[in-house]
Amino acid sequence: MHVNTLILGAGAAGLHCAAFAGPNTLVLDHAKAPGEKIRISGGGRCNFTNLGTTAANFISQNPHFAKSALARYTQWDFIDLVDRHGIRWHEKTLGQLFCDETAKDIIAMLLAEMAPNAQLWLNTTVGNVRFDGSHYHVAIKRDGQVSTVTANVLVVATGGKSIPKMGATGLAYDIAEQFGLAVTETRAALVPFTFSDDKFKPIAGTATPARITTADSTAFTEALLFTHRGLSGPSVLQASSYWNEGETITVALSPDFDISSALKADRTSEGRKALTTTLAKYLPARLVDFLATEFDLSGNTGDLSDARIAELTDTLRNWSLKPSGTEGYRTAEVTAGGVDTDGLSSKTMEAKTVSGLYFIGEAVDVTGWLGGYNFQWAWSSGYAAGTAIATRG
Ligand SMILES: Cc1cc2nc3c(=O)[nH]c(=O)nc-3n(C[C@H](O)[C@H](O)[C@H](O)COP(=O)(O)OP(=O)(O)OC[C@H]3O[C@@H](n4cnc5c(N)ncnc54)[C@H](O)[C@@H]3O)c2cc1C
Repeated sequence: MHVNTLILGAGAAGLHCAAFAGPNTLVLDHAKAPGEKIRISGGGRCNFTNLGTTAANFISQNPHFAKSALARYTQWDFIDLVDRHGIRWHEKTLGQLFCDETAKDIIAMLLAEMAPNAQLWLNTTVGNVRFDGSHYHVAIKRDGQVSTVTANVLVVATGGKSIPKMGATGLAYDIAEQFGLAVTETRAALVPFTFSDDKFKPIAGTATPARITTADSTAFTEALLFTHRGLSGPSVLQASSYWNEGETITVALSPDFDISSALKADRTSEGRKALTTTLAKYLPARLVDFLATEFDLSGNTGDLSDARIAELTDTLRNWSLKPSGTEGYRTAEVTAGGVDTDGLSSKTMEAKTVSGLYFIGEAVDVTGWLGGYNFQWAWSSGYAAGTAIATRG
């Protein structure tokens, strides 16, 4: 079997690339269905892009790398595609766009876009990959039969290591290394923090607005969720992408509320109430009970001096916590790090030193924030490679 373009990985990036790569394209995946992460994303509604996408929403050793692809296939281009397919969507919060109905609509759209130019082979295992200087030879196993597919162009779109249960493998990194490309250190990102002492177990399930600041002063203000194992929720997932083992994080509870002025007013109106009762007006009661075991919250509201209120405010704004780790690839939404962008063209995603070898999507060292940015990177990088392949001489 010979094709012009062989795409490994029928996920977001691979499927979108197939829509642009031109005729004689084959997409291979070992999974039994295409776009499995799309299907489960955004609680089944797929947060498919973000209105505010810019390169600043991505983490990479080279923060400029994503600019070109993001500029040439923008969030508006993808929204236009979604609209053309009659998929209804809504903005949830912070520019995050979700399907009204189901993420399956996005998968159906991607499949419709790639036909009739491309074939899709599922349940196909990828083995040895070889380049003879002009063609790629990829050993595969399908229906129990071992064979070789040859291709002029090889696109690696097999994603990162997150959620191995869903078929994630390190294949992209292995292929990159085989062809002499560097791979930056990978780690689980957009992932809950764990604490070895399970200290938050008593308040598991409690959620509250918070600003989480990491050691490098990156801060995210969104919901914080206490779990049996530690901390989760959007603010925590975002912070995890900037966190390194051993570092502390700073949690500001109720960050946009002027707790100091509120407590000063409460001194007269609620003077005889316990401080914990007053605080429970502004924070979940279970959280206040927990905080009372961590900090001195004794006494009545009426007895608070200005200095004590300042101290309390500081306590609630600068709660320093040291996670023991993260839940790892088992639950991480993405893998940070990956194929080093130094080795890739930012315009086409082609390896600079290996003709016809492309890396797209999560496999590349470009990691988006939570909020639709990772899919936008998959669409933009898939388009960059696809259109470049279609116009190759
Ligand atoms: C639970 C969850 C929710 C998410 N929600 C969102 C969201 O709402 N918005 C957002 O922007 N991002 C979200 N993400 C992140 C997003 O899913 C990924 O960033 C995106 O899917 C990456 O696209 P990709 O095509 O590079 O990789 P993937 O979508 O992971 O596709 C890779 C494909 O390669 C195949 N593959 C892997 N290894 C092999 C192999 N050895 N042989 C053959 N095939 C192989 C896999 O089966 C898979 O089909 C979420 C992730 C998770 C886990």
